[in-house]
Amino acid sequence: MKIKSIEAFVLKDTLEKPFYFSQWSYSERKICLVKLTTEDGIVGWGEGYGPADVLAAGVKFLASFVEGMNVLENETIWDVMYRRTLDYARRGILVASISAIDMAVWDAKGKILNVPVHQLLGGKKRDIITPYATGLYFREETDLPKALAEEALEYKELGYRAVKMKVGMTIEKDIEMVREVRKSIGEDMELMVDSNHAYNLREAIILSRAIEEYNIGWFEEPVSPEMYDHYAELRSATSIPIAGGECEYLRYGFHQLLKSNTVDIVQPDIASCGGLTEVKKISALTSTYGKEIVPHSWGTYIAISAAMHFISNLENIPGRMFNNQFFMEHDRTANELRDTVTVPDFEVKNGELVVSDKPGLGVEINEDALKKFCL
Ligand code: MG
Repeated sequence: MKIKSIEAFVLKDTLEKPFYFSQWSYSERKICLVKLTTEDGIVGWGEGYGPADVLAAGVKFLASFVEGMNVLENETIWDVMYRRTLDYARRGILVASISAIDMAVWDAKGKILNVPVHQLLGGKKRDIITPYATGLYFREETDLPKALAEEALEYKELGYRAVKMKVGMTIEKDIEMVREVRKSIGEDMELMVDSNHAYNLREAIILSRAIEEYNIGWFEEPVSPEMYDHYAELRSATSIPIAGGECEYLRYGFHQLLKSNTVDIVQPDIASCGGLTEVKKISALTSTYGKEIVPHSWGTYIAISAAMHFISNLENIPGRMFNNQFFMEHDRTANELRDTVTVPDFEVKNGELVVSDKPGLGVEINEDALKKFCL
């Protein structure tokens, strides 16, 4: 079952209302999708996380090495891509290009074998996943804390049992926003915060201690992803669990993260950490440290569905009769590309998501919409 072609598409949409977080403002959405076609006409789709134009250049570079290979051999294909890039890009965007192609390989493999990706990964260990709403970004409002409190309540009314909000504006403003959001949603909804590495260690300790009283599920990327020691120090200085890993790559990067004792919750992004082939190895490594995994997800339903299949296959450590709930990130910010180009085989009802059993990733692609947004 040979791969005939690998194509990269860069899609762009301008947002009606820009929003921002601690690092920069979003005024547009731009994503890179990958279409893999076999000689028999089976199509697999993948997606990369990162700057779309650079991702697409990486996909084009890798395509010539992968075309002609057997699509069923995901590890053999992965090895070829890794060896072709290792000398120039041990971490970063070329690994995300590998991830996008790898995701398309798994989608095609599932469609050829007529099984869902969770079965290819080794089996579905759970039917139900708990999606948490990602939203509550900063935006121009006369009273931002009030606007965020209202937005959080909307997620609760939609049935979500957990929500993640941005912090990283200023410590004072963050405390006010967290207080208002918690007051609005009450105590029976989980609340996580994410600073996207806005703070140094001293600031992160001050903020985490100030918001401990609001029962925070985790503090995500509190400090720079380069500062492994600071992560570890922060963990010992606060009762809030610490999360991170969306800027980390490959099992080697995650090994550094884990052995430095940095986080309670590990967050690989399947669209950039090395794809499904690599995240399977990252999850095995993480299990030896007894840490939880909640993947980072951003983009269209291709990447989100890859996370769903991966989570449904995750090992429950330690095992017990009554399982933990397994979270999945569900980005709720405006994204016309996600909502028109991709159709997932799941919906969120009463705060739960039933895992798809469709072959491959189970995502339908609207190619007319894809052409409309394609650059
Ligand atoms: Mg994050």
